[in-house]
Amino acid sequence: MSEMRLRFPPSPTGKIHIGNMRTALFNWLWAEKNNGKLILRIEDTDQERSSKEFEEIILQELDWLGIDIDEGVGVGGENGPYHQSERLDIYEEYIEKLIEEDYAYRCYCTPEELDEMRSKQRENGEMPHYDGRCRNLTEKEIREYEKEGREPVVRFKVPADEEIVVHDLIRGDVSFNTSVIGDFVIVKSDGMPTYNFAVVVDDALMKVTQVIRGEDHISNTPKQILLYKALGFDLPEFAHLPLILDESKGKLKKRGGDNTVFIGEFRNKGYLPEALFNFLALLGWSPKDEKEIIDKDEMIKEFDIRDVNKSGAVFDIEKLNWMNGKYIRDADLDRIVDLSIPYLKEAGYIKDEDSVDREWLKKVIEVARTGVDYLEQIPAEAELFFTDLEFENKEEAKEEFSEEGVELVFASLKEKLNDLDELEIDKIGNIFSEMKDELPVGARTIYHPVRLALTGMTSGPELTEVIYIFGKKEVEKRLNKALELRE
Ligand code: GLU
Repeated sequence: MSEMRLRFPPSPTGKIHIGNMRTALFNWLWAEKNNGKLILRIEDTDQERSSKEFEEIILQELDWLGIDIDEGVGVGGENGPYHQSERLDIYEEYIEKLIEEDYAYRCYCTPEELDEMRSKQRENGEMPHYDGRCRNLTEKEIREYEKEGREPVVRFKVPADEEIVVHDLIRGDVSFNTSVIGDFVIVKSDGMPTYNFAVVVDDALMKVTQVIRGEDHISNTPKQILLYKALGFDLPEFAHLPLILDESKGKLKKRGGDNTVFIGEFRNKGYLPEALFNFLALLGWSPKDEKEIIDKDEMIKEFDIRDVNKSGAVFDIEKLNWMNGKYIRDADLDRIVDLSIPYLKEAGYIKDEDSVDREWLKKVIEVARTGVDYLEQIPAEAELFFTDLEFENKEEAKEEFSEEGVELVFASLKEKLNDLDELEIDKIGNIFSEMKDELPVGARTIYHPVRLALTGMTSGPELTEVIYIFGKKEVEKRLNKALELRE
């Protein structure tokens, strides 16, 4: 088989979101699996809504997730240019060809005329569609319209009553009758090609062999197939990925004020790229053994576009959070420390990396990462180690420290810590066992006041870890302060 060529052709009209990235990712997986190529094309013919800034974001987020591009924008290649806005003369050529060969024609209808036509059709119980009234204009009619200053669009002549079958790699055969299509626009009145036309010319000239994209495009596919045939291009194979649904099974979209469907939001909150990658790969696909945590190499080995589900994939944020937390805990600690620093700075806990002892910071993050779903939560989890002691309830704390045996426990703990050359979590654990054996007090009198004195709280991270991170001096300081609180 000849080389497999896939493409990801986003429109830079907004920040790249989960749905688009899932499409890029499935294309990437299938390309990797087949030693194929992945092309990045930027579909920027909507000049008003497209921007370089959104394009930059697309490139940045693809790079962040490790979806590498073989050809196209940012990489180059032999089949460019890869921005649609730089291909207008190419489209022009094919438009002329279609008009000459009578596959397309100029239409001079005004928006008002089209509206009127559609409302009449609706009144008659018909599906609104272009009725082909400009198909056979005479030279004279054309001259008159042009004199009136009407700007024509170009429409494709859709053959009547033909069955177009899309052989979809995921969905099987899906057929459409041309009678519901109507002559569609391929060049707008401003001279810009429409999506359906440009995408066909580009995919064909860029020798794309398989088109993998979202299900929302399936109704465009019969139009594109008609264009492939009229232009004499070979058809690629098609695969339409299932929609991504929100938890209430509606289509996932940006909800009021909630930006969490944009890739950048996940990055900013401290989701790890490999976790998001893993999660996105499971939106519509799963490996045979249903394993949830799966790395790229395993995915490539197991992935088959034909195994993708037909039904919608639910975007379950709880699952993503669980997955991300797991990746954070399993990741190299130094990396997590580096990634956490910006959040700690933001919280005002550290000024810059040189102002804190790296080894100490590692200990803090090691403990803090056990309790987070994403790194933005690190400061809250580590707050204890960066702020002065504050009691949740001072009166209760006072009472607690005044209880019998507390002073003894604190004295014993200080002494035993002092006897250790170096603090280690295990050794600190042993101290507590010893105290339980040696001191004439119950376990509660040992753990509870110590925790309260050190953290100000009655629950929280492991006491041994807290002591390990604070170190002897800070522990002693806090224990003494607690005792001072007594009347
Ligand atoms: N620019 C189109 C989009 O982002 C591409 C669709 C396609 O893959 O054909 O929706």
